[in-house]
Amino acid sequence: MSAPPVAVIKRLGVFGGSFDPPHRAHVALAETALAQLGLDRLHIIPTGQAWHKRRTLSAPEHRLAMARLAFDGLDRVVVDDRELLRAGPSYTIDTLEALQAENPEAQLYLVIGDDQFAALKSWHRWEAILEIAIICIANRADPVRTQAGFELEKQARHAVLTLQLPLMPVSATDIRLQISSGHASPQGWAPLVPEPVARYIERHRLYVSS
Ligand code: ATP
Repeated sequence: MSAPPVAVIKRLGVFGGSFDPPHRAHVALAETALAQLGLDRLHIIPTGQAWHKRRTLSAPEHRLAMARLAFDGLDRVVVDDRELLRAGPSYTIDTLEALQAENPEAQLYLVIGDDQFAALKSWHRWEAILEIAIICIANRADPVRTQAGFELEKQARHAVLTLQLPLMPVSATDIRLQISSGHASPQGWAPLVPEPVARYIERHRLYVSS
């Protein structure tokens, strides 16, 4: 399902991730961003083979299908496959520049967890990212920002805000580990992902031997 047309998009959110698999914290983060930032549209962008993740990701078609199952029900959301279609390394700044060109009147909001924010300075053309988008940070397990995160925030004060998301200590890594170590789905990992995603994982036997 794609979001209905909006005359002019003024507030455009961008939420990228490997979504391998998408879990409940991802969905809660998207909902919070839509509400708190008053977004006209939120693009959910499954990454290509992200340059900063060493692990080989699940096939693009699985991650895209799961992202659709997880996010398509949300109003004003588009699951955007552009990074999956891009050959070579996938850089956030390229996506932001493309979205800005497509939506010249929009203010871009980049939604990320604080773990990613702390590493932002290692991202390709990170200064350009701070110039083009307002960074919207969700705290993960630890509410105290890392020193690297604090320093970057001071430097880019005007371009950073915090999302009011309660701490949700869930990660895709943990879910994959639970599945590969044979934990039963009803009690273990399944409640951590949206129900249709759990069914998809089981049907395609994803992560069983990762
Ligand atoms: P993995 O464990 O495989 O690294 P992940 O759970 O971190 O995956 P990603 O798809 O890499 O999920 O995350 C996409 C974005 O969502 C990142 O910006 C990440 O920081 C953020 N995010 C993921 N999980 C949470 C969470 N529990 N709370 C807040 N933000 C989160």
